[in-house]
Amino acid sequence: MIKAVINNNVIIKLYQQGLGINELSKKFKCHTRRIKKILDDNNIPRHYGGSFAVWTESRKEKVSKKLKGRKKSSEFCENNSRIHKGKKLSEKTKEKIRLSRIGKFCKEENPNWRGGVTTENELIRKSNKYKEWRLSVFERDNYTCQFCGEVGGELHADHIKPFSTHKNLRFNINNGRILCASCHRDTPTYGAKAIQKQGVMV
Ligand SMILES: [Zn+2]
Repeated sequence: MIKAVINNNVIIKLYQQGLGINELSKKFKCHTRRIKKILDDNNIPRHYGGSFAVWTESRKEKVSKKLKGRKKSSEFCENNSRIHKGKKLSEKTKEKIRLSRIGKFCKEENPNWRGGVTTENELIRKSNKYKEWRLSVFERDNYTCQFCGEVGGELHADHIKPFSTHKNLRFNINNGRILCASCHRDTPTYGAKAIQKQGVMV
Protein backbone atom coordinates (compact mmCIF):
# COMPACT_ATOMS: atom_id res chain seq x y z
CA MET A 1 0.00 0.00 0.00
CA ILE A 2 1.33 3.38 -0.90
CA LYS A 3 1.22 5.81 1.93
CA ALA A 4 -0.57 9.00 1.10
CA VAL A 5 1.71 11.97 0.93
CA ILE A 6 1.05 13.94 4.04
CA ASN A 7 2.51 17.31 4.65
CA ASN A 8 3.80 17.16 8.19
CA ASN A 9 3.84 20.89 8.54
CA VAL A 10 0.18 21.14 7.64
CA ILE A 11 -0.70 18.50 10.18
CA ILE A 12 1.33 20.19 12.88
CA LYS A 13 -0.19 23.54 12.08
CA LEU A 14 -3.74 22.20 12.17
CA TYR A 15 -3.00 20.31 15.36
CA GLN A 16 -1.68 23.44 16.99
CA GLN A 17 -4.79 25.27 15.90
CA GLY A 18 -6.81 22.84 17.96
CA LEU A 19 -7.70 19.98 15.65
CA GLY A 20 -7.54 16.61 17.39
CA ILE A 21 -5.57 13.54 16.42
CA ASN A 22 -8.76 11.68 15.50
CA GLU A 23 -9.98 14.52 13.37
CA LEU A 24 -6.66 14.77 11.60
CA SER A 25 -6.52 11.06 10.94
CA LYS A 26 -9.97 11.24 9.38
CA LYS A 27 -9.13 14.34 7.42
CA PHE A 28 -5.97 12.84 5.96
CA LYS A 29 -7.31 9.30 5.84
CA CYS A 30 -4.49 7.81 7.82
CA HIS A 31 -4.05 6.04 11.13
CA THR A 32 -3.96 8.04 14.35
CA ARG A 33 -0.61 6.41 15.03
CA ARG A 34 0.82 8.19 12.04
CA ILE A 35 -0.40 11.56 13.25
CA LYS A 36 1.00 10.87 16.71
CA LYS A 37 4.34 9.89 15.22
CA ILE A 38 4.53 13.09 13.21
CA LEU A 39 3.77 15.12 16.30
CA ASP A 40 6.24 13.23 18.46
CA ASP A 41 8.98 13.30 15.82
CA ASN A 42 8.65 17.06 15.71
CA ASN A 43 8.44 17.44 19.49
CA ILE A 44 4.97 18.90 19.34
CA PRO A 45 3.35 18.98 22.77
CA ARG A 46 0.11 17.02 22.92
CA HIS A 47 -3.17 18.75 23.61
CA TYR A 48 -3.83 16.51 26.55
CA GLY A 49 -1.78 14.69 29.06
CA GLY A 50 0.25 15.77 32.02
CA SER A 51 2.57 18.68 31.86
CA PHE A 52 2.55 18.70 28.07
CA ALA A 53 -1.09 19.55 27.90
CA VAL A 54 -1.80 22.54 25.74
CA TRP A 55 -5.30 23.90 25.96
CA THR A 56 -5.99 26.01 22.95
CA GLU A 57 -9.01 28.27 23.12
CA SER A 58 -10.90 26.31 20.49
CA ARG A 59 -10.15 23.07 22.31
CA LYS A 60 -11.37 24.51 25.59
CA GLU A 61 -14.57 25.66 23.95
CA LYS A 62 -15.14 22.29 22.35
CA VAL A 63 -14.63 20.37 25.57
CA SER A 64 -16.76 22.76 27.60
CA LYS A 65 -19.55 22.46 25.04
CA LYS A 66 -19.32 18.70 25.17
CA LEU A 67 -19.38 18.56 28.96
CA LYS A 68 -22.07 21.19 29.47
CA GLY A 69 -25.20 19.81 31.01
CA ARG A 70 -23.75 16.32 31.20
CA LYS A 71 -24.92 14.39 34.20
CA LYS A 72 -22.21 12.95 36.38
CA SER A 73 -22.67 9.33 37.29
CA SER A 74 -23.39 8.54 40.92
CA GLU A 75 -20.18 6.55 40.98
CA PHE A 76 -18.24 9.60 39.87
CA CYS A 77 -19.92 11.77 42.51
CA GLU A 78 -19.20 9.27 45.25
CA ASN A 79 -15.56 8.94 44.29
CA ASN A 80 -15.18 12.64 43.93
CA SER A 81 -16.68 13.38 47.32
CA ARG A 82 -14.50 10.69 48.90
CA ILE A 83 -11.37 12.14 47.36
CA HIS A 84 -12.16 15.69 48.42
CA LYS A 85 -13.55 14.90 51.85
CA GLY A 86 -11.86 16.79 54.63
CA LYS A 87 -9.58 18.61 52.24
CA LYS A 88 -9.13 22.26 52.95
CA LEU A 89 -9.22 24.66 50.05
CA SER A 90 -6.37 27.09 49.81
CA GLU A 91 -7.16 30.79 49.94
CA LYS A 92 -6.13 31.00 46.30
CA THR A 93 -8.60 28.29 45.29
CA LYS A 94 -11.36 29.87 47.35
CA GLU A 95 -10.75 33.18 45.65
CA LYS A 96 -10.83 31.47 42.27
CA ILE A 97 -14.17 29.83 43.09
CA ARG A 98 -15.54 33.11 44.40
CA LEU A 99 -14.55 34.96 41.24
CA SER A 100 -15.96 32.27 38.99
CA ARG A 101 -19.31 32.50 40.78
CA ILE A 102 -19.73 36.24 40.55
CA GLY A 103 -22.79 37.05 38.51
CA LYS A 104 -23.88 33.44 38.42
CA PHE A 105 -26.95 31.96 40.11
CA CYS A 106 -28.59 35.35 39.90
CA LYS A 107 -32.26 35.82 39.37
CA GLU A 108 -33.82 33.04 37.29
CA GLU A 109 -30.73 30.87 37.67
CA ASN A 110 -31.37 30.71 41.37
CA PRO A 111 -34.05 28.22 42.40
CA ASN A 112 -35.10 30.52 45.22
CA TRP A 113 -35.73 33.48 42.99
CA ARG A 114 -39.37 34.42 42.73
CA GLY A 115 -39.25 37.02 40.02
CA GLY A 116 -37.76 39.89 41.98
CA VAL A 117 -40.84 40.27 44.08
CA THR A 118 -40.61 40.43 47.81
CA THR A 119 -44.18 40.18 48.87
CA GLU A 120 -45.80 42.99 50.75
CA ASN A 121 -46.36 40.60 53.63
CA GLU A 122 -42.70 39.79 53.87
CA LEU A 123 -41.67 43.42 53.78
CA ILE A 124 -44.08 44.28 56.55
CA ARG A 125 -43.08 41.33 58.70
CA LYS A 126 -39.45 42.38 58.42
CA SER A 127 -40.21 45.99 59.23
CA ASN A 128 -39.36 47.62 62.53
CA LYS A 129 -42.98 48.65 62.94
CA TYR A 130 -44.07 45.02 62.86
CA LYS A 131 -41.28 43.97 65.21
CA GLU A 132 -42.36 46.66 67.65
CA TRP A 133 -45.98 45.54 67.47
CA ARG A 134 -44.97 41.96 68.10
CA LEU A 135 -42.79 42.84 71.07
CA SER A 136 -45.53 45.02 72.59
CA VAL A 137 -48.02 42.16 72.37
CA PHE A 138 -45.55 39.74 73.94
CA GLU A 139 -44.87 42.12 76.80
CA ARG A 140 -48.52 42.97 77.41
CA ASP A 141 -49.46 39.26 77.44
CA ASN A 142 -46.45 38.47 79.59
CA TYR A 143 -45.15 35.80 77.20
CA THR A 144 -48.15 33.64 78.02
CA CYS A 145 -50.56 31.82 75.70
CA GLN A 146 -53.90 33.60 76.02
CA PHE A 147 -55.82 30.36 75.42
CA CYS A 148 -54.13 27.69 77.51
CA GLY A 149 -51.82 29.73 79.73
CA GLU A 150 -48.62 28.13 78.55
CA VAL A 151 -45.61 30.26 79.42
CA GLY A 152 -42.51 30.28 77.23
CA GLY A 153 -41.99 27.58 74.63
CA GLU A 154 -42.98 28.36 71.08
CA LEU A 155 -45.20 31.40 71.29
CA HIS A 156 -46.65 33.36 68.40
CA ALA A 157 -48.01 36.87 68.17
CA ASP A 158 -51.35 36.28 66.45
CA HIS A 159 -53.54 38.83 64.73
CA ILE A 160 -57.09 38.42 66.01
CA LYS A 161 -58.53 40.07 62.94
CA PRO A 162 -56.45 38.65 60.09
CA PHE A 163 -53.36 40.50 58.97
CA SER A 164 -54.36 40.16 55.32
CA THR A 165 -57.92 41.40 55.56
CA HIS A 166 -57.61 44.09 58.25
CA LYS A 167 -54.82 46.33 57.09
CA ASN A 168 -55.74 49.11 59.48
CA LEU A 169 -55.39 46.74 62.47
CA ARG A 170 -52.03 45.29 61.52
CA PHE A 171 -50.10 47.36 64.03
CA ASN A 172 -52.83 47.78 66.59
CA ILE A 173 -51.75 46.17 69.82
CA ASN A 174 -55.41 45.46 70.69
CA ASN A 175 -55.63 43.24 67.63
CA GLY A 176 -52.77 41.09 68.88
CA ARG A 177 -52.64 38.16 71.25
CA ILE A 178 -50.00 35.68 72.27
CA LEU A 179 -50.77 32.07 71.51
CA CYS A 180 -48.71 28.94 71.86
CA ALA A 181 -47.98 27.15 68.60
CA SER A 182 -50.59 24.49 69.21
CA CYS A 183 -53.40 26.90 70.16
CA HIS A 184 -52.43 29.09 67.22
CA ARG A 185 -52.78 26.15 64.86
CA ASP A 186 -56.30 25.58 66.13
CA THR A 187 -57.47 29.07 65.22
CA PRO A 188 -59.54 29.27 62.04
CA THR A 189 -57.22 31.88 60.60
CA TYR A 190 -53.96 29.98 61.07
CA GLY A 191 -51.43 29.63 58.21
CA ALA A 192 -52.54 27.27 55.47
CA LYS A 193 -56.20 27.48 56.44
CA ALA A 194 -56.12 31.19 55.92
CA ILE A 195 -54.11 30.86 52.75
CA GLN A 196 -56.67 28.42 51.39
CA LYS A 197 -59.45 30.74 52.38
CA GLN A 198 -58.05 34.01 51.20
CA GLY A 199 -54.95 33.18 49.25
CA VAL A 200 -52.81 35.19 51.63
CA MET A 201 -50.89 34.98 54.84
CA VAL A 202 -52.55 35.88 58.09
ZN1 LIG B 1 -51.91 27.62 74.06
